[in-house]
Amino acid sequence: MREIVILGGGYAGLRALRFLQKSKGGFHITLVDRNDYHYESTDLHEVAAGTQPAEKILYPIEDVVDPDVTTFVQASVEKIDRDNREVSLDNGETLSYDYLIVALGFRSESFGIEGVDDNSLPMVDVKTAIAVHDHIIAQMEDYKETHNPDDLKIVVCGAGFTGIELLGALNDNRNEYAEIAGVAPERIELYVVEAVTRLLPMMPEELADYGVAKLESWGVKFLTGKPIKAIKPQTVVYQTNAETGETDELTANTIIWTTGVSGSKVIDDSGFSAKRGRMMVDSDLRDPDYRNVYLIGDCSAVMDPESNRPFPTTAQISLVMGELAAKNILAQLAGRQTGDFTYEPLGTVASIGNTHAFGVLGNGDKTVKGYAASALKKLIMDKALTETGGSKELFAKGRFDLYH
Ligand code: NAD
Repeated sequence: MREIVILGGGYAGLRALRFLQKSKGGFHITLVDRNDYHYESTDLHEVAAGTQPAEKILYPIEDVVDPDVTTFVQASVEKIDRDNREVSLDNGETLSYDYLIVALGFRSESFGIEGVDDNSLPMVDVKTAIAVHDHIIAQMEDYKETHNPDDLKIVVCGAGFTGIELLGALNDNRNEYAEIAGVAPERIELYVVEAVTRLLPMMPEELADYGVAKLESWGVKFLTGKPIKAIKPQTVVYQTNAETGETDELTANTIIWTTGVSGSKVIDDSGFSAKRGRMMVDSDLRDPDYRNVYLIGDCSAVMDPESNRPFPTTAQISLVMGELAAKNILAQLAGRQTGDFTYEPLGTVASIGNTHAFGVLGNGDKTVKGYAASALKKLIMDKALTETGGSKELFAKGRFDLYH
């Protein structure tokens, strides 16, 4: 029997699994993930801020696995050997495959900036998101003893989608922090330090400005055009003058790192010709050199023929990739032609708190703001939940409070 191995139970991997399992076409699947649960990585900022408990954004991988077709192995992938069609795991096991789907997701990118790993908090998975929330709460509790205003300060590094959504959720939870620290909510200071001045370049400028203005109206302080040069203990060092290299410092006891992501380290460790852990794949999502290996999700880059740039890394794109990789393996097994990646976006929406958002519909012709955008964002999230977890997970974890 043919063996299909799927590495990673994120959006891309689980979508591929669900699609393949439906066909029961004389093959066996092995799914590998380091966790026994899937999590909605688009909602990590809510766990980090504390506006959602972790359980709300995760569900057991076993719920998706059909034991008649699939074996789930909980382990970390260490290396992929494409020549010998083998995957080595940290539990000592080696898996052999006929077809491989690599969907190992992303990691935080520090760009080699000094002190990032030691002195700032990443927010890349459930554990690190919980750690961010625990850290914030500990600072608020400390404040009661120390009266150090830095305990009340939270700095987000990088105002991309992740940073902006995190700031919205932190603002939503300001009252909780203030209550623990025993201060007025406006004493909780939220900062973001960002390298560029034109934020969220994938959105029209007017819309990005709307998001910034909304957050500023809630008291978030934006330091833009200030590339971060180092993170020292409790201190962000940022450049204020590109010509002289002059820097300034912002002190805070919570510093969260959200300046971008790269694909899984396994991609680099396994000799894929990748840039920042993302490998350029053919239009049918295959490794150009190994016709039985597919790369999908955040460790994959597929060219958008319209923009002549790779498609961005988003959950929506990962889901489409997952389905196409599954369809293409079925096509290969049946001796048919593989299909090319095409993508019709529902929209690109950034939430700022539970009831506000801003974004573009479809390919970007129409913009949406406020409650309507927030409802659209929840619909996009519910669609992702259904496509990975199915209706069981949608009813348990879906966002039905669309207009509240
Ligand atoms: P990003 O790369 O989109 O944004 C990172 C931000 O950090 C940029 O604004 C960049 O200028 C800034 N930055 C980088 N280095 C810096 C430095 N040294 N000092 C200060 N600022 C610095 O990364 P992200 O926000 O983590 O998003 C990753 C991917 O996930 C993107 O493709 C994004 O579109 C996607 N995403 C989408 C959504 C959504 O659709 N709602 C939400 C989250 C993430």
